Amino acid sequence: MLKQFTVSQGDELLPDVNIYWDNENKILFDCGPDRLQSFLVFLRMFRNAGNELDDIKYIVLTHHHIDHIGGLKFFPESIPVIYNENILNFQGIQWNTIKNNERLIDRFIIKDEYKVQILNRMLMEYDDSYSVKKRRGFPIKASTETSSFGEWTFIPVEGHSSSDLICYRRKNAEIVSGDIILHNVFFNNIIEMDKTQNKLVSFRKMSIGEMKKLVDLQPIEIFIGHGKPFELDGLKINIKNTIRRRKRTEKKVNNIFETDRLKPVAQTAEEIFKTFISYDYFLPFSEVLNIYLDNNYDSFDD
Ligand SMILES: [Zn+2]
Repeated sequence: MLKQFTVSQGDELLPDVNIYWDNENKILFDCGPDRLQSFLVFLRMFRNAGNELDDIKYIVLTHHHIDHIGGLKFFPESIPVIYNENILNFQGIQWNTIKNNERLIDRFIIKDEYKVQILNRMLMEYDDSYSVKKRRGFPIKASTETSSFGEWTFIPVEGHSSSDLICYRRKNAEIVSGDIILHNVFFNNIIEMDKTQNKLVSFRKMSIGEMKKLVDLQPIEIFIGHGKPFELDGLKINIKNTIRRRKRTEKKVNNIFETDRLKPVAQTAEEIFKTFISYDYFLPFSEVLNIYLDNNYDSFDD
């Protein structure tokens, strides 16, 4: 049984993040956000549970988003990391490279303030590449089906992000899934800057595939990145709802685009999601832009 530690991101608009500890194999899954305060809270809980940082044999990274790997820099550098090799595709992306992508975002007909929000949000989602690079690492090749480390099997997938890792322990039929599935969130995948292609890409279609992969493993318990664990039935319901919701949204977005192709994306997002409060407004954008990117991919080629 995994021990769950939950830390805050220090912003009430952002969800708390889970860190998991496998005490038998001495493996830590994810390391919280890039925030010293969160690390110190984790450290206190970890010690209260009878552990020391020196006990950690490996740190597994479920994907490259900053709320999951930003805290890596606070852990001793001697601890090696296990990760989907695609994390390395994001290595070294600097602010000006991302800034170059303003021209891509510029092509969306949206207000400047939203463009800034999307850029900032994307920046936040990027990994803390330096701290991964500095360590001894065990990259799981994206082309391989699985890799095993003792009791754990790691399956590289793409969908929620480009560097997802399904962590599966057959013995207990348990999975650590990062953000492949989420509680009460209407999207599971976000748009990302793919350095190899130097453009924004959407992982929408792939995300269904990786969610189904979780079901195929027939887990008894699924430990997710934010919120309480799921059991298999809960997982199935969540996936069904996600697919249904996504189809509904896709239909609405496509209808609007077909009626008026020049309608600003912001307006489309507003029409579909109505409520437009600060944290949420990136999410509707994300979903609408995902559909937009999927449908109009060619028009965003250089
Ligand atoms: Zn997350």
